[in-house]
Amino acid sequence: MGAEEISEAVVNVLRDIPAEVTIVAAVKSRTVAEVAAAIRAGIKVIGHNYVQEAERMLNTFGKQVQWHFIGHLQANKTKRAAVLFDMIETIDSVHVAGALNRGCIAMRKIMPVLVEVNSGREPSKSGVLPEELDNLVRELSGLSYIHLQGLMTMGPRFGDPEDARPYFHTTKEAFDRLAKTSIPGVEMRILSMGMSNSYKVAIEEGANLIRIGSKIFGEHERPSC
Ligand SMILES: *Cc1c(COP(=O)(O)O)cnc(C)c1O
Repeated sequence: MGAEEISEAVVNVLRDIPAEVTIVAAVKSRTVAEVAAAIRAGIKVIGHNYVQEAERMLNTFGKQVQWHFIGHLQANKTKRAAVLFDMIETIDSVHVAGALNRGCIAMRKIMPVLVEVNSGREPSKSGVLPEELDNLVRELSGLSYIHLQGLMTMGPRFGDPEDARPYFHTTKEAFDRLAKTSIPGVEMRILSMGMSNSYKVAIEEGANLIRIGSKIFGEHERPSC
């Protein structure tokens, strides 16, 4: 889409959501010009699925915006991710978290993370299964350079947004339950749920971070997820 349409789309979504909800612009395979237009229109957080592509973009835009990793993190990319990102939204195993922790120790950087929950139990999706969530949270609590700040979930991407509501709802319940436990180093303050077609339902169910791609930048020519 052109810069003007992108700008209009950002302004429309910002107008549509409560002030305490933050938009993460999901920018996978978008151009620098498209991302620049979104930032000019008021986007403050960029979400990227790929470490290397993100690095190129970070070199262009720098720290005028925050950078969230929203893709599937591989253990061999955690060192670079530790350098580049302000938050990792997709922790789903102690193996990857441990590698990330070592990368963060090396650079003395405390990394805020979210645990990704596979709330729909979709075999094709990443994320920890709901019944494994508490165990993972306890294990993360032992990693001193990882600071757990909340949960993220995808839910179904297409179809009726109402279909996603039960998944958002159960993720919020887990979020509230974990907020009440007193596991050291665990804080529940960020709930990342909702995409272009489902962000309104997600906000109704308690999301305070929404990840928006196609609503800002248009549909991909070929779906990449
Ligand atoms: C692409 C992507 C989004 C945005 O999806 P849209 O439907 O285009 O808004 C959100 N979250 C993740 C993890 C993504 O990969």
